[in-house]
Amino acid sequence: MSNVSGNRSDDLLERVLPGSILCDMANDPVLTFTDKGIFCPAGGFYIDPWRPVDMALITHGHSDHARGGHNRYLATEAAMPVMRHRLGAIRGETLRFGDVRRIGGANVSFHPAGHLPGSAQIRVEVGGEVWVVSGDYKTEPDGLCEPFEPVRCHAFISECTFGLPVFNWTPQPEVMAQVNEWWAANAAAGRTSILGAYSLGKSQRILANVNPDIGPILTHGAVEATNRVLRGQGLSLPDTVWAGPDITAKTHPGALVIAPPSALNTPWAGRFTGASQAFASGWMAMRGVRRRRGLSQGFVLSDHADWAGLNWAIRATGAERVFVTHGYTQVFRRWLADQGYDAGIVETEYEGDEGETEDDIEVVE
Ligand SMILES: [Zn+2]
Ligand SMILES: [Zn+2]
Repeated sequence: MSNVSGNRSDDLLERVLPGSILCDMANDPVLTFTDKGIFCPAGGFYIDPWRPVDMALITHGHSDHARGGHNRYLATEAAMPVMRHRLGAIRGETLRFGDVRRIGGANVSFHPAGHLPGSAQIRVEVGGEVWVVSGDYKTEPDGLCEPFEPVRCHAFISECTFGLPVFNWTPQPEVMAQVNEWWAANAAAGRTSILGAYSLGKSQRILANVNPDIGPILTHGAVEATNRVLRGQGLSLPDTVWAGPDITAKTHPGALVIAPPSALNTPWAGRFTGASQAFASGWMAMRGVRRRRGLSQGFVLSDHADWAGLNWAIRATGAERVFVTHGYTQVFRRWLADQGYDAGIVETEYEGDEGETEDDIEVVE
């Protein structure tokens, strides 16, 4: 019924009541781990649930965290437009960062996670005990989304997608200089540059930081649709042109094309004859990934925290108990336990960096 492992978790396991709103505030943990998702017995709500529930608090709009089929949604003001775009007419309410909402016996607030615009960590307080669910987060400010803010808590549920010491990100300005250099060299040689980037978050982060003076910027429909939603809520991005069927390497020579990774090396990309194709992802740090994807170039750019970022963020919460979700959970849990934390693993259905937003191939008319 529940998937908790690690220190003291047997104790926790016995008290989990999946889907139940019966609770005993004196004894129940603030959050429990059920087969539908992370559950708050005192508030009767779930956080980023993966099965349909009555009330879902959502950290951010990536498809593995914001799923359809829930009766009611609560998310930040900046996350909701993209959720409505992806999920259709959902019954949703919004909260501003830092505002507190009383739900049953719990006080709930959302705090910036720095992962993409509107992405939040969710703080839940019951009877003075504070637990925080990180959602996905990155600690380096990216010039686009609200920067990550550590939230003091007793227990922290942290993602650890890149929870190995080998993941050590190059600062964004250096990575973006590499992107600009690659694009400029291709443009000078008359080649198109196709850059694979997740359509929500990564694409806009690149747009906000690339040098638009190098040449025209074209977008795949999935990226353009997301751009429209985010521009509609006031985000400023450089001009982009949707790469509809009439757009080719001839109509826009030397262009940069931003497309979801799933569009790389497909007939869609094939119309840009002779293009150089690259992927911007944390996974580009791993040897062989670029070659296996048949790409001429890779940029190590992740919207998740690296090893140092994870460790810094966890320390900054002041939490004694840490539960880790999607990523290198075994290794990271052991590392935290060695550092003196009461550390456990929570099995979830979150997919990590690779699975994000690959499903959102909607074409702009
Ligand atoms: Zn995400
Ligand atoms: Zn995730």
